[in-house]
Amino acid sequence: MKTTEHLLTCLIEECAEVQKHATKALRFGLEDRDPTIPNSQTESELIEYELDDLRAVVEMLTAAGVIHGWPSWRRVDAKKEKIREFMEYAQQTGALEKA
Ligand SMILES: [Mg+2]
Repeated sequence: MKTTEHLLTCLIEECAEVQKHATKALRFGLEDRDPTIPNSQTESELIEYELDDLRAVVEMLTAAGVIHGWPSWRRVDAKKEKIREFMEYAQQTGALEKA
């Protein structure tokens, strides 16, 4: 395995860890903690932790020249707008509560 492949594997792992804690937060709540571990972190804290891990990998991918031009604030802003549009649509269909 080469460095690029190793870093891409790390990227996949960190995305999966974010997914894991996001789904646990949906199932048990953002403030839920692992009941088998005393004083464990909340799902909200674990999502933040994994997003930091993900950012670290993305920065390493950038430093290694695997990806370029990240982040694109234009794309970030465009994505936010798209999400807002679909939230409005979901409210219209009744799938999403109105705020
Ligand atoms: Mg991690």
